[in-house]
Amino acid sequence: MTVAIYPGSFDPISSGHLDIVIRAARIFDKLIVGIYDTPDKPLLFTTAERVDLAKKAVVDMPKVEVESFSGLTVDFAKKVKAQAMVRGLRMSGDFEREFNMAMMNKKFYPDLELVCLMASVEYQFVSYSLLKEAASLGGEIEDFVPKHVAAALRDKFKVDIQK
Ligand code: ADP
Repeated sequence: MTVAIYPGSFDPISSGHLDIVIRAARIFDKLIVGIYDTPDKPLLFTTAERVDLAKKAVVDMPKVEVESFSGLTVDFAKKVKAQAMVRGLRMSGDFEREFNMAMMNKKFYPDLELVCLMASVEYQFVSYSLLKEAASLGGEIEDFVPKHVAAALRDKFKVDIQK
C-alpha cells in the first residue's frame, strides 16, 4: 500500500490545497493531510480549528485522512509509515523553499520521496496572506476556499473587528 503525507500549515485549508489533495489521492492508496502544530508564521486558526476545517473539506474522500503533528515532518512521515511526501508548487517563490527543505529532509530520511505537484492555473495566486487580506476587507473569497472555510474566515474577522 502506498501512503503519502501532505504536510503544511493549512491556515485555513484552501481550494488550492484541496486541488492538490484530490490529485495526490489519485496517485496514492492513502493520503494523510498533516497539519503542522507550530509553523514559523503567525496563525489565524488554532490547530484544532485547522484540523476541523480540513476534515470537513475531505469528508467525501475515503482515501484521505487528516492529522495534526508536531516536531519534524520526517518523524511524522515515519510514524504513519509514509513512503512519500506531497507538496504543491506555485509559480512564484515555492520552488526554492521546497528545494532547500527537500535537501534537508533527504538527509534526515533518505527513503522518503518528495512528490511536488504544480498548482493548477486557477489557484496559482491563492496564498495565505492574500486570502486573509481579502477576507478581512470583506472580499468575495468563495472561489478560493470551500464554503465552510469562507464562513469560518468571516467569523474570525467579525470577532476580531468587534474586539
Ligand atoms: P507551509 O507553511 O508548509 O507552506 P501551507 O499551508 O502554506 O503550509 O502550504 C502547504 C502546501 O501547499 C505547500 O506545499 C504549499 O506550497 C502548497 N500550497 C499552498 N497554496 C497552494 C495553492 N494555492 N495551490 C497549490 N498548492 C498550494
